[in-house]
Amino acid sequence: MPLVDSHCHLHFAPLRDDIDAILARAHERGVSHMLCVSVGLSDIGPIQDIMRRDPSVFGSVGIHPNEAGGTDSLFDTLTHLGAYEGIVALGETGLDYYRLEGQDVTRQQTQFRQHIAAARRVAKPLIIHTREAAADTLQILRDEHACDIGGVLHCFTESADFARQVLDLNFYISFSGIVTFKNAQALRDVARLVPEDRLLIETDAPYLAPVPHRGQPNEPSYVSHVAQCLADVRGVSRERIAETTAHNFFRLFKDAVPVDPASAGLGASPVIATEPSHG
Ligand SMILES: [Zn+2]
Ligand SMILES: [Zn+2]
Repeated sequence: MPLVDSHCHLHFAPLRDDIDAILARAHERGVSHMLCVSVGLSDIGPIQDIMRRDPSVFGSVGIHPNEAGGTDSLFDTLTHLGAYEGIVALGETGLDYYRLEGQDVTRQQTQFRQHIAAARRVAKPLIIHTREAAADTLQILRDEHACDIGGVLHCFTESADFARQVLDLNFYISFSGIVTFKNAQALRDVARLVPEDRLLIETDAPYLAPVPHRGQPNEPSYVSHVAQCLADVRGVSRERIAETTAHNFFRLFKDAVPVDPASAGLGASPVIATEPSHG
């Protein structure tokens, strides 16, 4: 059963430097589709380059909460770029108070609200990043009526109570390699509770490689370890996790058109290397 990596950054080093091998290895190991996620507006070019070479890769547009770049016209920019073909979601956006590093909380919150408004306008779901900001994240999702459009809480590390509240707001929950970490029992307990029809899996590559690759650069082929961990935790087969999370992916990201595996990975145009915008 093919796996779908619902969140990776193929346009970041070191993945982009070896992109053909990374994509080939993903397909060889049963990853049928990937969603390559923006952290800044300038990511759209590099992401489109990868989408052109492999039609099984989809893209998003958005500004990570720790990235600058939001302006008064952000809503207009996001609605413009968000309408591009192959762009299936807005984000990653949200709040990250862990890595605030002197940044203005108000700026993060304003950008987050602009993303939600733009997602509602273009009718595409949100990819939400939240860290040490649970209460404010919920408040803004409610204020801005994010439940109308839904989306995913990516790389989930929050509590069961937070999970219940975002599920009530029409959101999906995506688990990354963190769920495989030895010290992540509390997170595995949450992973057991998420309804099957709201579950997604991701790598967040090149970060957060799952056990047994922990400490190495992550890549989409490793999403199988996340699937296996959820299968063990939930007492079902890995195939069942693959099937339901793939099905959930295409239900949530309704503009993502699945491709026949035979036609994936056949792109020919060279990827244009650009400077990383996110560490
Ligand atoms: Zn994130
Ligand atoms: Zn990410």
